[in-house]
Amino acid sequence: MREPLPSSQDLARRLGAHAHVSRVVAARPLSPSLTEVELEGAAAALTGQPGNDVMVLVDQRGPRMVRRRYSVRSVDLDADRFRLWVTTGHDGAGSDWARRATAGDEVDVVGPRGKVLVDPHAAWHLFVGDVSGLGAFYRMAESLTAPRQALVVVEIDHDDDALTTSLAEGVAVTGVFVDRRDRRRDDPQGLLLALAALAMPAGDGHAYVVGELSVLHTVVDALHDRGLDDHAISAKSYWRADRANADHGEPERDGR
Ligand SMILES: Cc1cc2nc3c(=O)[nH]c(=O)nc-3n(C[C@H](O)[C@H](O)[C@H](O)COP(=O)(O)OP(=O)(O)OC[C@H]3O[C@@H](n4cnc5c(N)ncnc54)[C@H](O)[C@@H]3O)c2cc1C
Repeated sequence: MREPLPSSQDLARRLGAHAHVSRVVAARPLSPSLTEVELEGAAAALTGQPGNDVMVLVDQRGPRMVRRRYSVRSVDLDADRFRLWVTTGHDGAGSDWARRATAGDEVDVVGPRGKVLVDPHAAWHLFVGDVSGLGAFYRMAESLTAPRQALVVVEIDHDDDALTTSLAEGVAVTGVFVDRRDRRRDDPQGLLLALAALAMPAGDGHAYVVGELSVLHTVVDALHDRGLDDHAISAKSYWRADRANADHGEPERDGR
């Protein structure tokens, strides 16, 4: 396997992460909006803990180096492999990479990244967002042990995007898939209605909110209104409606 590009090595050094070249094992469409990309190489160094993501160099054909961040969906340390669930229902550098990914492709990966991790003290865990969050949500939820509770509220564009998983015995699960219908991608109404109908369990809980930038802000406000304070909410915007993420992978912010 070749060495990662100098820019990937510099980036990893600055972030206190690792840079490695991984090889695509397979890329499979899971649903109309999601493609699973399985990578091999340096899995132990790159994948971190449930909630962490990796930065993938998805386009280096022009003068720009375009990187995109993808949460790690699952890890198989014995096989030195890990999987990403990449949204491919729109046109963008990351979605194009996943659609074109072919077994044998080599790609620079920097990781682990990200600060949204499972709160070990919470009795219940609420995961809220869109399909781009499913990989992170399911890896985190799968790490829970009894007697904890997982609540998953995800907005989907197609019925077949309602992918499910199995959690450890004794972990109670409430799953709600919200049909986006023809609402805009920055319209929070679907998630707000689903949250309003959701009974929050008793005891200390933690909410994890990811997805479109402005939807995320509104959902966080709604969770405050339901009594969760800042310490009980971890939020990370993944993308922004009608605007490409910056080349370093983050959605561009203005205002809040
Ligand atoms: C910490 C972190 C973790 C992330 N984890 C994941 C993950 O596990 N899976 C995942 O799919 N993404 C994840 N993302 C988002 C991902 O990094 C990309 O930014 C996003 O998928 C868009 O990249 P792109 O190059 O395909 O599109 P861009 O070039 O960024 O955007 C092109 C166009 O597509 C639109 N667009 C972008 N994303 C979506 C979307 N999901 N639905 C509809 N329209 C969209 C944009 O508004 C824009 O108009 C994560 C982001 C961060 C910051």
